[in-house]
Amino acid sequence: MKNDNIGFKSKTIHHNIQKKSNRYLVNVPVYHGSTVVFSTLHEFDHSREDYKNKNILVYGRLGTPTTFALEELIADMENGFGGLAVSSGLSAVTISLLSFLSAGDHLLIADTVYGPTRKFCDTFVNRIGVEVTYYDPTIGSAIENLIQKNTRCLYMESPGSLTFEVQDVPTLVSIAKRNSITTIMDNTWASPYFYRPLDHGVNVSVTSATKYIVGHSDAMLGLIVSDETHYAEIRSCRTTLGHCVSPDDIYLGIRGAKTLCVRMEQHHQNALELATWLQSQPDVIRVIHPAFSSCPGHEFWKRDFDGASSLFSFEVERRDRAALASFLDNLKFFSIGLGWGGYGSLVVPINPELVRTATTWKSDAQLIRLHVGLEDIDDLKKDIELGLKRYRELS
Ligand SMILES: *Cc1c(COP(=O)(O)O)cnc(C)c1O
Repeated sequence: MKNDNIGFKSKTIHHNIQKKSNRYLVNVPVYHGSTVVFSTLHEFDHSREDYKNKNILVYGRLGTPTTFALEELIADMENGFGGLAVSSGLSAVTISLLSFLSAGDHLLIADTVYGPTRKFCDTFVNRIGVEVTYYDPTIGSAIENLIQKNTRCLYMESPGSLTFEVQDVPTLVSIAKRNSITTIMDNTWASPYFYRPLDHGVNVSVTSATKYIVGHSDAMLGLIVSDETHYAEIRSCRTTLGHCVSPDDIYLGIRGAKTLCVRMEQHHQNALELATWLQSQPDVIRVIHPAFSSCPGHEFWKRDFDGASSLFSFEVERRDRAALASFLDNLKFFSIGLGWGGYGSLVVPINPELVRTATTWKSDAQLIRLHVGLEDIDDLKKDIELGLKRYRELS
């Protein structure tokens, strides 16, 4: 599936189009189906075994041609051996971890992972008898000191959720490899357009495609890409747990992937411009954006990533909830909500101190996270400018 001679955009856009099997329709059709019928008992008898090695139709839960098209596309985009589509980004996370962890194992996981990922580790992963250690995302080569004889997986998310610390992935990966530890990385922030974890030695990449790949805030979807060594185990775990995705949502994932490049470029540009402007505003204490040298791990972002996305945070003085409400309730273009990655801008107040154990979030300022959408940048600036004014005046 690898084709290193063509660019990311051409590869993504031309994947699977104008195929004879699609009757020369440009797009992959939406195949709805549960039952697959076999013409002979021999074919039926061998179908399960054959499925282990290739994408063949067995039963709806194991995928339709629509599912396989997205799985092959995402594997191609991230230069992996195989891809898997699952029902949400969170299920991509949980399946990846459950594929490798057993009772008695030890998991190393970044302190700055997505909140529900942390919840899964603190509840389910603990309950099956796996020891979990959170590590400081800026740890670098000192990760070696946290490795135990039973360390089975190293789980990264870079930049970190809410606070955007960028990890030195190649260093962590090389230490993990030396210790035969499987590495998993949540790549949602960058999307495959700005970062491809497997190119940096990571074994398994997980993405909430709900965010940028679907890109229009209208479907839940998770994707996993892995190298050859880990693929069969994850596919088997996914199948055993019974995860599957509606073909309509798969279709939205394929369609979104085709325009990912232009949307990401615009997100990058808009967010960077807004962040730079925010930094010059007197009410803003600090802007946390991986493209700024003040962001922890900025040098790794600069070295490893092809761009920055829509998501960053900024700090203002902490005031009461009514002041915050007057700021956020009256914004015109930034809606209050979760599920960033769509075309429209979003805003949420955040509290990283509630979800950190290996590190301490020292600031007592009010932290606000923005997802900068595809709107006109001047309108977005004006919106935030008026919001900051309301926030200042209500105190
Ligand atoms: C949103 C998100 C997820 C979960 O994705 P869903 O599709 O909402 O389940 C996982 N990781 C990160 C970094 C996310 O932002």
